[in-house]
Amino acid sequence: MSMIFLRIGSNAEKRYVERVGTLFSGLVVRANLFEASPGMVASLICRLAGLQEPRGYIIDPVTYVFGTDPALPGNVRSWQKVSEEKATAKLAADLRVPESEVSEEWIRPVQVPRLPEDEHRREVLSIKRSFRSLADKTLGRMASVAGLRPLAPTDLRQPEVQDELVAGAITYQHEAVGSRFAHRRYGQLAAAIPPPMYTLCPYFPVQDPGSLGIMASIWSRFAEQHQGETGMAVLQCTPAYLERERQAIVEALDRLPIRAVGLWIDNFEEERADVGVLNGYVRLVHELSLAGKTVVNLFGGGLSNLLYPFGLAGIINNPGYGDSKPIVPVSGGRPAAKYYLPSTHKRETVEDAHYYLRRAGLGRSSEEFRRDVCACPICRDAIRRGAADLIRYFGEVGEADERRIYHPTPRAIERCRFHFLLSRLIEFRWSRSASREELRERLQRDSNRWREIPRAGEHLPRWLAALGIA
Ligand SMILES: [Zn+2]
Repeated sequence: MSMIFLRIGSNAEKRYVERVGTLFSGLVVRANLFEASPGMVASLICRLAGLQEPRGYIIDPVTYVFGTDPALPGNVRSWQKVSEEKATAKLAADLRVPESEVSEEWIRPVQVPRLPEDEHRREVLSIKRSFRSLADKTLGRMASVAGLRPLAPTDLRQPEVQDELVAGAITYQHEAVGSRFAHRRYGQLAAAIPPPMYTLCPYFPVQDPGSLGIMASIWSRFAEQHQGETGMAVLQCTPAYLERERQAIVEALDRLPIRAVGLWIDNFEEERADVGVLNGYVRLVHELSLAGKTVVNLFGGGLSNLLYPFGLAGIINNPGYGDSKPIVPVSGGRPAAKYYLPSTHKRETVEDAHYYLRRAGLGRSSEEFRRDVCACPICRDAIRRGAADLIRYFGEVGEADERRIYHPTPRAIERCRFHFLLSRLIEFRWSRSASREELRERLQRDSNRWREIPRAGEHLPRWLAALGIA
């Protein structure tokens, strides 16, 4: 079975589910988004479940978040405005500490006062409400450290803690949607909501034999508590760890009675990775699939979407980011308009994409564009005369800002994202029924096409080399 999932990361991204959601195998949301917008997410899930050909869902419990430093910007804490006299009490209540333990560093004046009353208010570095609620529902006794310090391997070693984490994550994923409809006025609706397509085992980064041992123990407790085909063990590690310890990973997972395996390789940029790491990844997927596992890459790039002939069972895509994701959050900055070039399997700024196409002499008319670049419904509509239309349509900019910089319009960014998702779907439909030989031929063709253009396709020979497995 080959699958391709759509993940959304914000309220605004629900429009992608509404317009192209049914083309994917299912919807994925992170549990913190569910906690922040339960009504929106639950109604999307219900709508997909009620289709004639229903689509399922996955709620990622994101337990790893509580293993990272809570003070990092963009992580589980954020600056929140409160009245001056309530500052200490709010921090104490949110973080479950006595007021005497509230640090002065967590309280500051309002940084950008906008209202007269801001003078009497303070900003407090508290735990975000969605993460507070998620910690309480999924971490068992460890909920009390959420937001204060990262969960450490020593915390996770205790069997009682592992059992609570596993029970918390399973119950949460199974009851989250239904609990939104538990009220009598919804009648039997809660009972009609299907369980998730996959239930994820709680997961934390694996970086050495000790943490792999802890994860393996959590996996086997999960297998005891969640039986059946839909349990998923998640392996979260760095590319270097994967390359070095592939054998140990396969052995640990092979022993488990868990069918599905989710991979999250930290900040794994497939178009930048060297052949050794890429080959380790391809081999891992291949070996796990030989062991009977259903392997899903939670943040797959352009190579991953072509790996179905090598045993990959699924990837998850996000409209905006999603080619790779670092475990430790990075603050975003402004979104750029990036055009996915189907024959390099990589996103480029619209200017670069246009430049590469022009240098290669591709897409000079709308017919040539459809034949050699992209024939998705968005591009069919947009490209009337040839590649020059990329700039006009996907690279549309608004008025210059005060620093005289032009930024892409929201609709230009949205067009790029729809084209990206549709391109991924088109590739997926090809790849899931291709043979390994056909895939190699395709990458060779793509590689030849871009050989003369510096930078455009320089990752393609590495991808091709990475497919060499014994
Ligand atoms: Zn397109």
